[in-house]
Parts: sequence; C-alpha cells; structure tokens
Amino acid sequence: MLKPIYDITSYTLVDYPNHSSCVVWFSGCNLKCQYCYNPEILPFNSGTKSVEDLLNFLDTRIGLLDAVVLSGGEATSFKDLLILCRQIKEKGFKIKLDTNGTNPDMICSLLYMSYGFFTSSKMPCPV
Ligand code: SF4
Repeated sequence: MLKPIYDITSYTLVDYPNHSSCVVWFSGCNLKCQYCYNPEILPFNSGTKSVEDLLNFLDTRIGLLDAVVLSGGEATSFKDLLILCRQIKEKGFKIKLDTNGTNPDMICSLLYMSYGFFTSSKMPCPV
C-alpha cells in the first residue's frame, strides 16, 4: 500500500491561526534546501502512513479539531492531493497548505476548488 505520509502531529494550537489542528507531514520534497528543518523526511520513500491511515485518524477527531494542516516535505508532490482535500473537507475540517510554491498548477486547482488557504512559509532557496 502506498504510504505518502511520514507522520501526523495529532494536536497543535500554533499551526492554523485561531484554530486547533493536526499536521500531516508528507514524505518527499522536490527541493533540498540547506536550511531544511525536516531533512529526514525529504526522501519520497520515507512514508510510514497511508491516506487510509490519515482518514481513519481524522474520523476520530471530528468535532475535536477544527483544521488539517498539510505540510512536509512538499504536500503538492502527492499527486492525489486534490482528492484527499475533498475527502478532508467532506469530514468538516478546514485545510491549510504549507507549500514551497513550486507546483502552481496544483495550488491553482486547490484555490479554484476553495480547498483551504495557503502559506508559503517554506521559501525555496538555491541549492
Ligand atoms: S522546501 Fe521545505 S521541506 Fe523542501 S527542502 Fe526546502 S525547507 Fe525542506
């Protein structure tokens, strides 16, 4: 089974403004920033959890958490991110995407579908 997720932080009050959330850490990034704060999850084969694992976890958090933060790694590298965002929204969660901004097509699609709001806190740098 495909395991695109490195880990899940089950509860935080600091990653989505004014809301409780969990953080989904996608494995793999298309950049190799020298200052990367998560170098252990940059390989695309470093995942330990499947999408089904995440959705099962979220089922246990309905009514307890407000939002899901998609981070990594680079979440937009996950090709089924649009489908996953729809599934997360159907469960009633807000979505925030932390992205390095290198996949504008995916970001535009997410914006068009109104699947959350976005930060570019992971500024890419020359490698
Ligand atoms: S974009 Fe973010 S996750 Fe990717 S290498 Fe740079 S700091 Fe690390």
